[in-house]
Formats: sequence, C-alpha cells, structure tokens
Amino acid sequence: MKIIQGKGVSGGIAFGRIRLYRRADISVNQLRIDDPDEELRRFDAAKQQALQQLDRLYERALTEVGEENAQIFDVHRMLLDDPDYNDSVEGTIRSLFVNAEYAVSVASDDFSEMFAAMEDEYMRERSADVRDVSRRIMRCLLDLSEDADDDSCGGSVICADDLSPSETVQLGRETVLAFCTAQGSANSHTAILARTMNIPAVTGIGEEFFYLKGGEEVIVDGASGTLYIDPDLRTKKEMLRKRAAEMKRRESLMTLRGMDNVTKDGRRVNVLANVAGLQDVSAAIDNDCGGIGLFRSEFMYLESSDYPTEEYQFRIYKRVLESMKGKRVIIRTLDIAADKQTELFGSDRRDNPALGFRAIRVCLNRPDIFRTQLRALMRASVYGSLGIMFPMIISVEEIRETKALLAQVREELKAEGIPYRDDVEIGIMIETPAAVMISDLLAKEVDFFSIGSNDLTQYTLAADRLNPEFDSHSYVHHKALLRMIKMTADNAHKEGAWVGICGELGGDTTLTGLFIAMGVDEFSVSPSQILPLRERILGLDMSGGEKVLATTLNG
Ligand code: PEP
Ligand code: MG
Repeated sequence: MKIIQGKGVSGGIAFGRIRLYRRADISVNQLRIDDPDEELRRFDAAKQQALQQLDRLYERALTEVGEENAQIFDVHRMLLDDPDYNDSVEGTIRSLFVNAEYAVSVASDDFSEMFAAMEDEYMRERSADVRDVSRRIMRCLLDLSEDADDDSCGGSVICADDLSPSETVQLGRETVLAFCTAQGSANSHTAILARTMNIPAVTGIGEEFFYLKGGEEVIVDGASGTLYIDPDLRTKKEMLRKRAAEMKRRESLMTLRGMDNVTKDGRRVNVLANVAGLQDVSAAIDNDCGGIGLFRSEFMYLESSDYPTEEYQFRIYKRVLESMKGKRVIIRTLDIAADKQTELFGSDRRDNPALGFRAIRVCLNRPDIFRTQLRALMRASVYGSLGIMFPMIISVEEIRETKALLAQVREELKAEGIPYRDDVEIGIMIETPAAVMISDLLAKEVDFFSIGSNDLTQYTLAADRLNPEFDSHSYVHHKALLRMIKMTADNAHKEGAWVGICGELGGDTTLTGLFIAMGVDEFSVSPSQILPLRERILGLDMSGGEKVLATTLNG
C-alpha cells in the first residue's frame, strides 16, 4: 500500500480505480506527401482502430451505465462511417497532397461548423461529436493513447495534473467517483464544482501524480486529503468504518430537514443552494434548500460547443423555477473568462485573465449574447420567484447600462405579447474592492447584494484564488475581508436592500455567528453544506454578538 497526502477540498470517501486524465494535446502539422494512396491507407487503418475502440467502449458502457448512455459511442461509429465525412478527407488528401492528420482536422472543422449552424438542436449537438471522433482518428494516426474522455462510462477516480472547470463538468459527473489533482486550490472552480456535485476531491498531490500508472485500486478520503493506493485489508476496513460513520452523520443531519434556520435567540436567516446547473437541483431539494441563491449559468456555455440558445436557456430556467415551487431562485448571468475559459468567447491568453475581460465586461461588450440570456430569463420569470444577479460589477455605470438593456428586453417582450413578471429582483455580486467601496451608491440601484467572497478575497488580498498557498485562514479570514463584508451589509441595509454571501466563506461555520452579527440575511452554499450550516445556526446564541464583532473587526 502507498499513501499519498494532498489537501482535502471536498469530503467523502470513494473506493475505485485510478483513471489518469492527461490532456491530449494534439498538434497537427500540414505536411506535403507524394503518395495519396498510401496516406489513404493510413487513414483507413486509423479508422479501423478507432472503430474497434468505439466497439469496446460501447460494450463496456452497455454493462456499466446502460444502453441509453452507451448510444453516444454508436453515434460516433456512425459519424466515422459517414460517406460525406470520408469523401471530404479523401478529397483533401488527393487534391492538396497533404497528410491524413491534416485532412482529418480540416474535415473536423468543416463538419463541426456545419452541424453547429443547424436549426435542429439535436443536430447542433453533433458538432462536439464530430470533433471527438476526429480527435480519436488523429490520436490513432499519431499513435497517441486514448484519452480520458473515453471514461464517460466512468466509475473511476480521476487523477489529473490539473483540471479546468470545463473539463470537470465534461467528465461525466454521474459516474466519476472522485477527483484528485497534482495542483489546485480550495477555491478554484474545480474544487467548488466537486463540492457542489458532492464528489470527494483532493488537490495538491504534487509530483506523486506522475508516478501513477492508471488502473490502481485506490481509496480517496476527501476530508483528510489522503489517497490509499492498493490499500491493505486493515485500511479498507478502517475506511469502510469511516464511511459508515459519515453516512450516520449525514442521516442525523437529515433530521434537520423542515426546520427553520433560526438562532437560539430568534435571529432568522435564509440558507439557499449554489448550483452549477439543473443537474444539481435535486441535491439542493434533498438537502432542504430555501431556494437557489446562486445558479452559475456560465456552465451552460462551458458544457457546450455553441452558444446556448434563448429557447434552451428558457427551458432550463423554467425547470429550475418550477422545481423550487415559489422559493427564490437567483440566476447569475454569464460569468465567463478568468479560469472559466471557452473558445466561444476566444481564450484570454494574457498573463492575468482574472484581471481581464470577464463576466459583466464580456456581456456588455457582447449585447447580442447578453440579450439572449436576459430574454430567456424574463420569459422564465412567470414560473416562479426569480432574481437576476450580475457578476463582477465595479461601477454604477455598469449596473445602469445593464438595467437599460434589461428594460429594452422587457419592452421587446411586451411588444411581442410574451408574458414576464415585473417584480423580478435585481442584484449584483459584490466581489471587487471597488464594489465594496461604492456599495452605498450601488445599493440605491438594486434589490440585493450577494457577496462573492472567493473573488473578493483574491482581489482584496492580491492573492490568486487558484494558488493553494493562499488557502490558509490568514488569508480567507483576513480582517480586511471581514470589514468589507460588514461595510457592504451596512450599506445595503441603509438603502433597504438585502445582503447574502454566496462565496465559499458562507459555508464556513466558524464564521456564521460573525456574519449574522454583521446583519447578513442569507447564505448560499453547496447543497451538502446546507444542513451543517443549519445545525450551526440552531446552536448559536447571538446575545453578545456585537461584542464579538467589535473585537474581531478591531482587535
Ligand atoms: C465568488 O467569487 O465568491 C463567487 C461566488 O463566484 P465564483 O466563485 O463563481 O467566481
Ligand atoms: Mg466570483
């Protein structure tokens, strides 16, 4: 048995086998060839190899995850045999005298773009499949091993050097048992996603990652951050016991469902759920959320190879609102870029993308994309109690411009006879020191503030949230940050706005009393953190809270 120690960023214990995820960096050069027939033979051989891989994957998926999920490999087989696709590859090789890899990459671009432009949603989704299948042939041509997306049949502990948020969501969240990365911090979106999905996760296993071969039996303890490779019998028994104890604790937390979030001395607050998409909503309901306090809408864009349409977004928002049965749902508009990069908006390759063109800046620069989202949101508003929240606001002008766009959208819908609700709450995220410093002015413009402590921490302390060195309490509990939260809450209340925390600090139960003493009205946390937070609130007595607050902020 070998023990690897990293940092636990999402609790839970997983038993499984290691699946290595290495980004298949396929670079294809255009080479001039003399013999097109020879090149076509190479292409055919690679295609046969790819077909065999797909057959194997189909069979495995059939037994492990059922026919419906296995069908994707069938679709890939069909694409491989598509006569137009094959003619295109052959045509490029024969007419340009170029290598097969290059011809496949050209066909991949042409066909995926063609599918992406189609009206029909099903056909549009095939765009990503064309790219996948082309990558598979290119890997065969280049003699590269299959990569991790082959593990969509899952049941594995994914180990990677690092994982971007878009890779994490695309890894088949239903079947991944745990994530382990060589790098990564507690507040990266990958760690946040793991907590949201309630999947054990360990970061910072460092260079141990490079000694993993893949296929090893492993137990992951996401709370302590430990990996047991080829565990012995004693460890297995111990971990089974620990898992049983965790399940018992979970059951006892479940008895808190249906209770109010109220302190011993009668202070009541709301506890809602952070979700990355529709798929997390059932976990939010199971954990008795008071609504959705943060719907990270950008994951819809990260999961897709095309801009999500108005209709697609409308259906998602409608379903979330309906499933919350009148409880508040706050949807954050597209917060793209920084560590959430997608080719859709062109990757930001500057040195400091977190200080670059992201979130509301992108939206105001791309009103076409922004309007689509605003229209979908307003149309969905009639199905529940919607709040719309704008990320990364730094000025009154930004919020006014945004509200003007929203007013135009409302006018448009009215003219088209499409119903929407007039009482949709409008809020902004407070996640920059600039927003805190002018929170008195911003509060006049909105119904609520939601404090994004993850970004607020990095921008206040000049401490990259992706850097694990800054996960310690001296950073995340920094007095400057706590004072900013107090200032924001005071300024919100002066103007009659309410204030919540939706950053990870909201789930830190060592600070709950302090936040309530500051006047925070609402907490929004990962679904699995809702009941531990309720337990904490129920045990709090706030008499004396003011004194603790004064000592903490000034002492
Ligand atoms: C935050 O910054 O605290 C926040 C909630 O937004 P995100 O983590 O998605 O950047
Ligand atoms: Mg943020």
